[in-house]
Amino acid sequence: EPIRTDPECLFCKIVAGTVPATIVAQTPEAIAFRDINPQAPMHVLVVPREHYGDIAQLAAGDPGLLAGVVALSDQIAGDLADGQYRLIFNSGPHAGQSVFHVHGHVIGGARLGWSPA
Ligand code: 5GP
Ligand code: ZN
Repeated sequence: EPIRTDPECLFCKIVAGTVPATIVAQTPEAIAFRDINPQAPMHVLVVPREHYGDIAQLAAGDPGLLAGVVALSDQIAGDLADGQYRLIFNSGPHAGQSVFHVHGHVIGGARLGWSPA
């Protein structure tokens, strides 16, 4: 059964390879690439290949895939930084979500501040 994708979705296009990105890791179920507007020395987006709109939809639809996204995030932080990181899933426009294909922001490589609002 093929995975669900959205032809209008930016991150589905990056998964498909029709929009370029600097990919830093890939698994059969997820990919990770550099954020185009990094907020820290390491700022990587980890994206399941299948299209889910947000973290709650992913958690409900395929909890094992969410666990895979978390595991890949941890691996990337070890490979690209010191293994310490913040993993952020913005959910909804008021939380700052602008791409409606779930993605974890893996942020680190520096001592991080805390000013979510
Ligand atoms: P959100 O605001 O939805 O949580 O995160 C979307 C992220 O995607 C933003 O941090 C933004 O910089 C990043 N982004 C938007 N368009 C592109 C793109 O075309 N390529 C890459 N690599 N990142 C993008
Ligand atoms: Zn998508």
